[in-house]
Amino acid sequence: MDATRIATLPKVELHVHLEGTVSAATAVALATARGEDPAEVLVLEAGPDGALRYPRPFRDFLHFVDTFLASSAQVRTPADLTTVTEAFAAAQVAQGVRWSETTFTAVTMEQRGWEPRAMWEALAAGLAAQPDTHVGFILDTPRDLGVDVARRAAELAGDALAAGLPVVALGLTGVEGAVPVGEFAFLRAAADEFGIGLVPHAGEMGGPDVVRDSLDLLRPDRIGHGIATVQDADLLARVADEGVVLEVCPTSNVTLGIVGSLDEHPIRQLRDAGVALTVNSDDPPFFATTLRDELAHAVRLLDLDAAGLAALERRAVDASFAPAEVRTAVHAALDAWEAAG
Ligand SMILES: [Zn+2]
Repeated sequence: MDATRIATLPKVELHVHLEGTVSAATAVALATARGEDPAEVLVLEAGPDGALRYPRPFRDFLHFVDTFLASSAQVRTPADLTTVTEAFAAAQVAQGVRWSETTFTAVTMEQRGWEPRAMWEALAAGLAAQPDTHVGFILDTPRDLGVDVARRAAELAGDALAAGLPVVALGLTGVEGAVPVGEFAFLRAAADEFGIGLVPHAGEMGGPDVVRDSLDLLRPDRIGHGIATVQDADLLARVADEGVVLEVCPTSNVTLGIVGSLDEHPIRQLRDAGVALTVNSDDPPFFATTLRDELAHAVRLLDLDAAGLAALERRAVDASFAPAEVRTAVHAALDAWEAAG
């Protein structure tokens, strides 16, 4: 399949962090505009052309987290957050993404001094500037910040919903194993109370036990990553049988050193076992990728034809929290795209 065909595919993205879409150039510009030295306040390296870029590859997960947090800490004013949100939405539209679910760590921004209402207004203003885009927010809590912070994250989601922000789910991110999964079981009750979803990361850095505990204790709507599922035959069969949808992010896993290379990525094993997977970019500029690149990798690794690629995106929209009219429009666009081939 040629690149043009993938470029025109109507796309759906379920796993992309808003702060993870801040490019090194944007972070440098924000720091420089305040008179700060980017080399001091950001985690960067010089690329082959001499321009500062995010480190590649990351030494480990914590090196990535340090880089991510230093970059997102530059998003300090409502104008900054609106600019970042608008740039994200524009990039999704440019890639043909019809529906995006983007994770935003409001609880970390609040710890940095943001007022909740200022965040919601800035995010809404960024989306309003790109009326062609359709976005739902996932408000996550990094598990390593603990249970009290997670309770606050749930409160913030309720506050954002009351303010009219399109929040579609709660998320659970951060260092797997830092706190037992069961301590976050209240997030399921909170999500149910708000009438939204719960989409924890699990089985990314962590093992199959984190995926199993998440299924048992959180009753998640989907699992972020979940690639460790292939390490346990019983779990693999269960995830396939129960139709658990995994948000697979191939280049993210390679760049963070979880798998050695794209060719060694377990995406084919998951597919061959009957697992319902989706393909996503996670933190595109940090991993020097785009959703389009990730879908091209999926086409190669899974040997997909047009029908297979359209089926991948149909599954993504079916597993999303998109409103009915968006689902209908995405299905129609995919039918037309497939027929045009
Ligand atoms: Zn993620």
